[in-house]
Amino acid sequence: MPTPAHETAPFGAVFAEKMALSRWDGERFEEPRLEPVAPLSIHPAAHVLHYSSSVFEGLKAHRGIMGDLRLFRLDRHIERMQASARLLYLPPPDGPLLERMIIEVVDAAREAIPDPPGSLYLRPTLVGTEANVGAAASPSKQALLYVLASPVGDYFSGGIRPLKVVVEVNRPRSTPTFGMAKTGANYAAALGLIMEAKHTHAADQVLFAPGGDVQETGAANFILLDDDRVLTKPLDPSFLPGVTRDSVLVIARDLGYEVIEADFTIDEMLEFAERGEAALSGTAAVLAGVGTILHEGTEHKVGSGEVGPNTLRLRAALTALQTGVAPDIHGWIRAV
Ligand SMILES: *Cc1c(COP(=O)(O)O)cnc(C)c1O
Repeated sequence: MPTPAHETAPFGAVFAEKMALSRWDGERFEEPRLEPVAPLSIHPAAHVLHYSSSVFEGLKAHRGIMGDLRLFRLDRHIERMQASARLLYLPPPDGPLLERMIIEVVDAAREAIPDPPGSLYLRPTLVGTEANVGAAASPSKQALLYVLASPVGDYFSGGIRPLKVVVEVNRPRSTPTFGMAKTGANYAAALGLIMEAKHTHAADQVLFAPGGDVQETGAANFILLDDDRVLTKPLDPSFLPGVTRDSVLVIARDLGYEVIEADFTIDEMLEFAERGEAALSGTAAVLAGVGTILHEGTEHKVGSGEVGPNTLRLRAALTALQTGVAPDIHGWIRAV
């Protein structure tokens, strides 16, 4: 049998055949439709193309060990998309509508969902489509909501490798309040710094710590951990409230770790990292271990410099829950 495309293509570059769409006419979302994935027709003056009125989500459906299909923390992702939409003055889709669209797309992709460690990555997207280049200071009067799906393989198909992050103290990833929104403009704003970190330092990511306040990386939350504790910044409007972050904290408590949500400085982080572990958390990779932190030209090894045992343990505990190897004691799974 030929190798399935999702195993050779980069994460997110292969799509399921069907997507769900619903247009908003200024008052309501129309009845959603399931359509073949194809280029969209939007006006060149569409609000999103000029004024970045876009928000998105990223969540996964997993094939369970019994062959069942399982959406992970659907309610949280729907709530966050609504919150992002409100921040951008886009119409927040009703929970039941968005839920139905996501479930229809998963159902239509049923045969194409890879076995674990692969999954179906879902990308609900909402953009302003009003054709009006004069609308820079007003919300879009029309919008398009759609749900794309991408079968994805093992995020670490090339093997688990410790990441290198560069600490950025001067420039923020986003603005206060917009840090909470999953909106395209934030990634555009952070890209220059990430490119710089890649080219100048051969780093994988930038760890944003404006004014010394360690927040998160370009597209993932940041946690410190050791055999006894998990430490991360408490939720505030400056950074994205990750569903993985929340899930890892709950599972860590279940496993007996002391979970500390507290602000910490770069010095405190570097001291912790001497003997502890650091990891990035997000839906795509779950937990990715950090091996090196580069700060002011000095490379600080995190623990042994390899991905730590507690990082691997928490990652395994979370994926076990997603795939049904462990029971769903928190009610996080929506069967499809
Ligand atoms: C999506 C995202 C995260 C992780 O959120 P999850 O819900 O865990 O996937 C963290 N930070 C940023 C900036 C993100 O875009």
